[in-house]
Amino acid sequence: AKEAGKNTYQFFDAQMNAQTFERLLMESGLRQGLERQEFELHYQPQVSCDGRLEGVEALLRWRHPQLGLVPPGRFIPLAEETGLIKPIGAWVLREACHQMVAWDKLGFSVPRLAVNLSARQFEQHTLLHEVNDVLAVTGLAASRLELEITESMLMQNPQEAVSLLGELKALGVKLSVDDFGTGYSSLSTLKRYPLDYLKVDRSFVEGLPDDEDSAAITEAIIAMARKLKFTVIAEGVETAAQSAFLANAGCAILQGYYYSRPLPVAELQRWLAARQPA
Ligand code: C2E
Ligand code: CA
Ligand code: CA
Ligand code: CA
Repeated sequence: AKEAGKNTYQFFDAQMNAQTFERLLMESGLRQGLERQEFELHYQPQVSCDGRLEGVEALLRWRHPQLGLVPPGRFIPLAEETGLIKPIGAWVLREACHQMVAWDKLGFSVPRLAVNLSARQFEQHTLLHEVNDVLAVTGLAASRLELEITESMLMQNPQEAVSLLGELKALGVKLSVDDFGTGYSSLSTLKRYPLDYLKVDRSFVEGLPDDEDSAAITEAIIAMARKLKFTVIAEGVETAAQSAFLANAGCAILQGYYYSRPLPVAELQRWLAARQPA
């Protein structure tokens, strides 16, 4: 038993060191990552039930020289802790809007761009200026930009949220609530905010069509959301059966691996070219 305990300890210790090392590497790396242009955006298509491209969601990746392609779940929490999410988030917004205009010039028609916002970005009124500036600089029509926020961001400071969302809305951008169903807000609470889209969380879609609870909840969310005039987007659609279920339940827009994974720019362009005859 003593032997085993020692082995466990050594294993644990080695693992801790690896984690601490990675964290240190990431923290200093995040600071330099922006200057060194190590961040990149992948874009995931969103399609209507009849197969038309509705838009793309920009998803951040970090191409780290030692760690390789790092998914956002592994560095965004740290970026939020350190406040670095602010300059990183500002970069995401600029980069994605410039990309939309580049696609326009290349003749690809991507109707709408969705950008994720972090709680830290949403705290500050500079967000309003950032959005205003990027639209002015790029010339992208405000109505083609959709900002995704989560329920918890609304709940943290409801009064501020109402005024900030109102101001963003006045610019003409679209607003959506991401990961709906994972927080504690009800649809009637959400109606206080000027939101356009509601994204049903992947955790509900996962169980479709066979899991009865998932099916009942998803149908109820879609039906109520539609009555309240939200456009419903389902995320994490991986199968034809899920897609059919959601379309039948009245969901307007579908997003997930069934249609496409998030793709780097060149690959998304190939995906678009294969779908739209010139
Ligand atoms: P999210 O906004 O809910 O984005 C959807 C996530 O689900 C993405 O993971 C996407 O790759 C993944 N996904 C899409 N379709 C499917 C599917 O059919 N099946 C499965 N299993 N997964 C699917 P990703 O790219 O790793 O992003 C994770 C989270 O990181 C995002 O969740 C978002 O909260 C955050 N994030 C990504 N980019 C940004 C950003 O630019 N800024 C901020 N603040 N957060 C970001
Ligand atoms: Ca999102
Ligand atoms: Ca989501
Ligand atoms: Ca999600």
